Amino acid sequence: MTDRAPWVIVIGAGPAGLLLGLMLGQKGVPVHIVEKGDRIDDRPRATHYSAPALRELHRAGVLEEARRRGFIIESISWRKLDLTYLGGFSQKVFPKDDKELMVCLPLDRLGQLLVEHLNYLSNVDIKYRHEVVDIGQDDCSAWVEVQTPTGKQKLRAKYVVGCDGASSKLRRCLFGDNFPGFTWEEQIVATNTYFDFDKYGLDDANFILHPQHWYMAARISKYGLWRITYGEEKGFSNEELIARQTMKFEKFLPGNPKPEEGKYKVESISPYRVHQRLAEHMRVGRVLLAADAAHLCNPFGGMGLTGGIADIGSLYDCLIGIYEQRADESILDRYDEVRRAMYNNVINPISSANMRRLFSLDPDTATDNDEFLMACKRAQADENFSREFQRGVNAIVHDFTQYYKSG
Ligand SMILES: Cc1cc2nc3c(=O)[nH]c(=O)nc-3n(C[C@H](O)[C@H](O)[C@H](O)COP(=O)(O)OP(=O)(O)OC[C@H]3O[C@@H](n4cnc5c(N)ncnc54)[C@H](O)[C@@H]3O)c2cc1C
Repeated sequence: MTDRAPWVIVIGAGPAGLLLGLMLGQKGVPVHIVEKGDRIDDRPRATHYSAPALRELHRAGVLEEARRRGFIIESISWRKLDLTYLGGFSQKVFPKDDKELMVCLPLDRLGQLLVEHLNYLSNVDIKYRHEVVDIGQDDCSAWVEVQTPTGKQKLRAKYVVGCDGASSKLRRCLFGDNFPGFTWEEQIVATNTYFDFDKYGLDDANFILHPQHWYMAARISKYGLWRITYGEEKGFSNEELIARQTMKFEKFLPGNPKPEEGKYKVESISPYRVHQRLAEHMRVGRVLLAADAAHLCNPFGGMGLTGGIADIGSLYDCLIGIYEQRADESILDRYDEVRRAMYNNVINPISSANMRRLFSLDPDTATDNDEFLMACKRAQADENFSREFQRGVNAIVHDFTQYYKSG
């Protein structure tokens, strides 16, 4: 625990907030991370991280351990409901020691890893059960008002960063309910389920195209646990969605298993509404937004946290540049401009197409009509193209040190 006044207050001990705290803390910056919960969130959410996120985990010194606690996935495929292969790609086209191979590690375990590393830093303090209820700023500092078990407190720092997730209080303090974009009519249900997909020869991650029973099945542990996330029609309450799970599994899982047959075991289940939204700005004076607090996308293709971690890498370079007097504050305007452009030009269109592909294509003709599936076919025959295609996601990486003052 640090008794130094913080230079940055990070709101939210999700993966984005913890990573920013760790990266800044490793450079000696005094940081407070304030979290409303009494521990880190363990709902079934992000599991897979691609190249832009892995670069930042590497810079924070946690990549090797993340790979060890999780695993590197081998291949991804797109299939029909009867599991006929439509296309896919393999990470075997990269050398084994490539640092940007896609890694699977469920979010709560990534959070735990980050907390373990943060515990070594005496200049970073994680304050649980501190809920931000208001913010403010003046020319020299920004402050947050927090509700704690012992009453309200005001905490002040040079900068406040909102990593407080989709319903961000910081974003709402800045822009009210204005969060431009849309909410999908389709709902999704994410489960962690034990099921023997290996018997059916599936890849590590599989996207199943079907107008009603579209889903994704991805291996999330070495011991038979899979993330099965499927689409549902609009209009059902969360309770109804949970009650429909056995019917849905019987419709779409291979072998059409009935619950009483004991062929699967659901470990956790969470329905979600999904959104494509981007905040009006990611900087207002000394208050900054990053990751889900700033932008949302559907989870198909794993662009959510990967994009969020790319924000964190960018914001780290901007803030450390200011802290070490190598950059002036105008770099934060660049952060706002560039990261929002990355969302608009890359994350939003790609993630939207990823989800739409699952339910809007005719699976029987998709390989002839869908550019992405056609590219998968080409990647299978051409290793150079496969590498280029898989690393296209690096388009969301941007080097902010180029804006540092020369000399
Ligand atoms: C089903 C599903 C699967 C997904 N799969 C992937 C994937 O494979 N790959 C990927 O890249 N992304 C994926 N995502 C998206 C990913 O989970 C999110 O982008 C990620 O969790 C966002 O991290 P965050 O740190 O920004 O926010 P969060 O993880 O939401 O953390 C925010 C934190 O802020 C705290 N907080 C909130 N309000 C306050 C307040 N007022 N005061 C103090 N603390 C506060 C919360 O308690 C929480 O701990 C998936 C999402 C879903 C729903």
